[in-house]
Amino acid sequence: MCGMCGTSLKRQRYVYVCDGCGTVRVAAAPLEEQIVPQALTLMGQTQGWTRLVVAGAAEGEQPPAEQRAMWWNSVDRDGQRVLLGILVDYIQVDLVCADGQEHFTWITHPQTG
Ligand SMILES: [Zn+2]
Repeated sequence: MCGMCGTSLKRQRYVYVCDGCGTVRVAAAPLEEQIVPQALTLMGQTQGWTRLVVAGAAEGEQPPAEQRAMWWNSVDRDGQRVLLGILVDYIQVDLVCADGQEHFTWITHPQTG
């Protein structure tokens, strides 16, 4: 989701772009790498794990952190996106200017309810 206008970002090959204000463009691969720790954190929460089980993406008891990380790494990119979709409601991308350069920040918003 675009932090400036609230429009959902569209993935176009290697970047995410905003259809609304057109200003947010973020390379897809770095974004997806950045949110891995957040995804693992969400998987580590009882609520997040339960969500995966309910969605049929996982089963049984919540494994320890190391196994969750190994599991994540064993899933291909498309699969990781599916998992993220289960765990995360939306990702807010903000463009911030610092030191005369533009940087992106992203915040994951966990699924609720
Ligand atoms: Zn926008």
